[in-house]
Order: sequence, then structure tokens, then C-alpha cells
Amino acid sequence: MLQSISGSSNAVEKVIHGEELSFNDGLELLNNENVFVLGAAANLVKKKLTGNVITFVASYYLNYTNVCAASCPLCAFYRKGDEPDSYTLTIEQILSRARIAINDMKATELHIVGGFHPKLGLDYYEKMIREIKKEFPSITVKALTPAEIHFISHITKNSVKEVLSRLKAAGLDALPGGGAEIFSKEIRDTIVRGKCSGDEWLKTAEIAHEMGIRSNCTMLFGHVEEPKHIIDHLIKVRQLQRKTEGFITFIPLKFSLDNTELEQKGLIDKESSSLYDLKVIALSRLMLATVMKNISVYWVALGKKLAQVALSYGGNDLVGTAFSEEIFKAAGKSTGTSIQELESLIKDAKYVPLQRDTFFNIL
Ligand code: SF4
Repeated sequence: MLQSISGSSNAVEKVIHGEELSFNDGLELLNNENVFVLGAAANLVKKKLTGNVITFVASYYLNYTNVCAASCPLCAFYRKGDEPDSYTLTIEQILSRARIAINDMKATELHIVGGFHPKLGLDYYEKMIREIKKEFPSITVKALTPAEIHFISHITKNSVKEVLSRLKAAGLDALPGGGAEIFSKEIRDTIVRGKCSGDEWLKTAEIAHEMGIRSNCTMLFGHVEEPKHIIDHLIKVRQLQRKTEGFITFIPLKFSLDNTELEQKGLIDKESSSLYDLKVIALSRLMLATVMKNISVYWVALGKKLAQVALSYGGNDLVGTAFSEEIFKAAGKSTGTSIQELESLIKDAKYVPLQRDTFFNIL
């Protein structure tokens, strides 16, 4: 039985007694609740759902291209096809990275994402997945965010369902959760350019879930959003999760500023405060408590030290090793780690580290 938290608001009392939070409850918590009270509530809910264990996956990030038809102001990663440092990996290059990931680094998951390449056909993605699975049948291929699937559907003139069913036949196991950003059009139009709408992202994820392809889900925060946009995003995630149960984990992603158009145009001059980051992570746990067991803390975006703290603010998962991560690296973040380091970070925060697979089965 969860005890009440001294001095907490009605909304906190509601959630620790298993009730669902409304839009106004969420707004009240993010605007007015003390960060420590929010964290204590999120930690109580987390402990009830997942105990004292913190999980992580041995994942290798494979960014197959940085060429992108979009040009999102939030992004430091993309290049146009004629820029000298643009690249697109061949299938053989992808396979040779997969060999390093699996044979040398002991990854159990390949996390494969890239830009919206305007010239790659569906056969490239099918071949990439099929060849990986042919050589490594037991690796989990978590590839192509709902935003990429939507783009591929558009550019190849196939329906989302057709794209997904061909990729599934090639061996696709799950989708990463990127590209969700903030669903609200009011904010999305400022931070992305040429990417699907929030509704299209949600619809693509829904179609995938209905086909038995589960996915992660993210939310990019700490840029130009207001509390109401965070709550709106969380409620939309909650609604879809209630309908499909297809999301594996929810990952609140802190926005990284360096080298982005948002920074260069002076729209944002600093990254969000650690207190705000912790509040958003705790609130994610509280708003999703009735539908989602897993809230992941992405140490690459938060930094390792703040990620450790976030494990006591509702997070039950450290995402993973993210070997070879390129996207946050382009925005100035340090991305190197090892399985041993993640285990130490978790132990130092007084939790029990357990390695998981993509679907949260303990290995
Ligand atoms: S965020 Fe994705 S879609 Fe947008 S510019 Fe970067 S790579 Fe392209």
C-alpha cells in the first residue's frame, strides 16, 4: 500500500492511489508542484510497477544515412546530399558494422535510424534487414521510426501498411520511438520542417501495433514548448497505449542545443534546467502510470550524472549502451559507454542492474 506524501497536492494523492490524472492535474503538477514531491510520487509509482530493478539493453546504433529531405531546426545531424560530409552506407558497410556490434560488442539489438533519404527505395531497407537477419537470425532489428516509415510510404507511393508488411517479412522486429518530438502543431511547426505531423506519427505507430510490430515512443522536451504541450503529448500517448498496448517504453528526450538551427537563429540560447528535466520525467511516469510500465531515462541526452538522479524520479530503465550513437553526438553530447559502466551507474544509485532485451525480457 502506498503511503501519502506529506504536503502533496490532490493530483499527487490521486496518482499514488491509482487514479488517472486529467489534463488539468498534469498542468497543475508541472506548473506548481515541488520537484521533490513530484519525484517522490513518481518513485513510489515506479517501485510499485517495477521494484528496485533498473534495466538496460546492449544496443548498437546504426545510422545508415545522414542525408535528409527534411531540415528540422531541432536537428544537428542531417546533411543535404551534395554536402561533403553527407554519407549513405551500403548494405555491405551496414553488415560489417553489424558484425562488429554483435560479434565484438555483444549487442542484442540493432537500433537503425537515419535521415529521410529522398532516393533510397523500399528495396534498400528490405535488403538491409534481410541480410542482417540472414547472418544473425537472433539479433533484434529495431529499425526506422514511425516518422521514417511515414516518409518511405510517401516517397515510394506505398501505403504505411504495405511498407510495414514488406519490412516485417524481411525481418523487422520493432520500431524505435523517435520523430514523435512534440505532437502539438503549434510547437511542432517551429521545431521540425518536412517531417510528418503528430497525428501522422501516431497513426503510423497505431498501424504498426495493429500488425504486431511494437515500438518505443519518445517526447522531445526542453526547447520552445510550454507545460500544456507536454501534457497534451502524454495524454495522446496514453490514449494510443490504452488502445493498442503496443508501446514498449516511453522515453522523454531532453533537447540538445549545440549546432542546431534553433541555436543558430537565437530561438533558444540554453538547454533546459536539470530541475525541469526531472519534473518532466517524473510527470511522464505519473501521467502514464495507468497504462505504461516502463519509463526510460536516456543518459546520452541527460548526461550520466543527471540520468542517475532521474532513476529516482520515475525512470526504471537506462535505455542502453547506444554504441556508435551519432545523432546526439552531432549536437555536442558525449556518447561513449560500456555494459560495465551502465551497471556501475545503476549500482551507485542503489538499484539492481539487469540487462534486458528490446522487449524488456531479462536476459
Ligand atoms: S530530425 Fe530527422 S527528419 Fe528532421 S532533419 Fe534531422 S534527420 Fe531529418
